[in-house]
Amino acid sequence: MFTKKGKIFYIVIGLAVIFLMNYFVFPFMFGDSVKEVSYDAFLSELKNKNIDSVEIDGEYITYKLKNNEESNKKSNLFFGIFSDDNIQLYKTGYMDDPNLIEKLSDSGAKFAKVQPEEMSPILSIILSYGIPIAIMIFFWRFLSKQIAKGGLGGNAMTFGKSNAKIYVKAQTGKTFADVAGQDEAKEALTEIVDFLHNPKKYAAIGAILPKGALLVGPPGTGKTLLAQAVAGEANVPFFSISGSEFVEMFVGMGAAKVRDLFKQANEKAPCIVFIDEIDTIGKKRDSGHVSGGNDEREQTLNQLLTEMDGFDGKKGVVILAATNRPDSLDKALLRPGRFDRRIPVELPDSKGREAILQVHAKKVNIADEVNFKAIANATSGASGAELANIINEAALRAVRMGRIEVEQSDLEESVEVILAGYQRKGMVISEKEKEIIAYHEVGHALVAALQKNSAPVHKITIIPRTSGALGYTMQVEEDEKFLMSREEAFNKIVTFTAGRAAEKLMFSTFTSGASNDIEQATKIARAMITRYGMSDEFGMVAFETLSNPYLGDDTSLSCSNETAAKIDNEVIKLVSSAYEKAEDILRNNMQKLNSIARYLIEKETITGDEFMDLLEC
Ligand code: ADP
Ligand code: MG
Ligand code: ZN
Repeated sequence: MFTKKGKIFYIVIGLAVIFLMNYFVFPFMFGDSVKEVSYDAFLSELKNKNIDSVEIDGEYITYKLKNNEESNKKSNLFFGIFSDDNIQLYKTGYMDDPNLIEKLSDSGAKFAKVQPEEMSPILSIILSYGIPIAIMIFFWRFLSKQIAKGGLGGNAMTFGKSNAKIYVKAQTGKTFADVAGQDEAKEALTEIVDFLHNPKKYAAIGAILPKGALLVGPPGTGKTLLAQAVAGEANVPFFSISGSEFVEMFVGMGAAKVRDLFKQANEKAPCIVFIDEIDTIGKKRDSGHVSGGNDEREQTLNQLLTEMDGFDGKKGVVILAATNRPDSLDKALLRPGRFDRRIPVELPDSKGREAILQVHAKKVNIADEVNFKAIANATSGASGAELANIINEAALRAVRMGRIEVEQSDLEESVEVILAGYQRKGMVISEKEKEIIAYHEVGHALVAALQKNSAPVHKITIIPRTSGALGYTMQVEEDEKFLMSREEAFNKIVTFTAGRAAEKLMFSTFTSGASNDIEQATKIARAMITRYGMSDEFGMVAFETLSNPYLGDDTSLSCSNETAAKIDNEVIKLVSSAYEKAEDILRNNMQKLNSIARYLIEKETITGDEFMDLLEC
């Protein structure tokens, strides 16, 4: 591999070579060796008439001794190799010596004045820097070629080549057994696997399998996992690439990668191509008026569409893709003949959650008496990824506690960690604030318990959490609910407003602690009016639509300004009537509010059963 570090290494080596050449090699290769001596050494040689000839320039006196074997021997053995035939020269600084000429002629030496012997500056630069650099460039290109050929095992120079990983059975190690729940998705994918194994069975009856299937669902529901399981189940090559890998530094490379990927796939057919997070390249194309930055992505998408049309479905290349924003995909991708089959991968129901917990529990040491059903019930709305995380958090907690098995309490605590963050044991809360928090939480719990149609209280706590919650009340439905009646929706709002109502009744003032409750209450109230058709004023008219059902509840409003104002009024009316109801319930149960709140301040956490006992006594 040619990493950045590698490049720096070569540059350093190159500079070192230039340095060495300049100082040691060139002077011996391209000239006589010159030894510097002192002026008085020169004078004494002159006196002894040992000097053969002298050259004087403005700065130096350079002289040659008479042919005397001994004195002409090279002083330096190693460098002498380069300059065996050269004659030893001596030089000394020129001094303003008025008797010099006289002394010279006395000694009988030949002497002359010369121009300073200097290489032209251009030539000297070329020699000392140009040649080494040229040599380096030559080596660089040579290395690059070797690398491109794969000679050195790297791939830095293979720009634009698809880097889709090929998975075969053994490599992902995942099978359908690793995917819990998601039975419909597994069934649809099994059909595809079966087709790749027995295409004749399908051809005999004239059935053509769709070229592409799109896995859609919220994040963390196991789309990527399902695709890996398909790779494990099908005994065919499996190309996997993520949408973001197509978006390259260089324009046109994304399209080239798509082309290359499909070329490889065609060669390996029957096989499966999996494009994860396809929305990164498959977003709706601009309608023409705005252009610029997105050209690269559009080219890539166009290439993908072309390739999908181009290949023969019967040959056995199946394209899978996954996304959690199907709404943002270009319509052209969803056209028949492309990704015309959608495989929904939804959030698991309580049975699915139980199964997912069990699959992941196999990887850890877990106590026999653990009740997965209870955990599944308490995690309504959790995705597979979150459930996997809960098991892991529980295992970590068991280790912290010095145990060798995961127990129910570990699982329960880790559910809360996932929902509300870790406990903040070090946080100091004043007695006064603790009191307010306790009344607030008991307010929620009491109102929830005293209304019909609301989920039973599971736990009340005033231990602060890292998410910022200072306390909370957990409610858990007995059975999974898929529908919400108008009464239930309203009762939820009442329960949300009850925290503030309790503060107000008890302390005649209120705090900022209800901000999250207010948000939630408003959200439900708005949805009742604009989406669920639950208001008398408007009836069954949709003013808001969810922009993406899989990613949060962002909505887009479509109505006149007048209606928008009316909607706001309705929301205000609905929430304030809910608040009044909460206040009423609490006012009629002040005694219970007091006694339970006192108990909570003392214990900090109350379980659902304890709460029901306190309520009934
Ligand atoms: P997605 O691609 O839908 O965002 P992933 O496939 O990456 O989600 O899932 C993340 C992790 O969550 C998986 O590696 C797996 O551990 C866990 N997971 C999600 N769904 C399931 C499931 N149905 N069964 C078992 N594990 C699951
Ligand atoms: Mg994924
Ligand atoms: Zn609250």
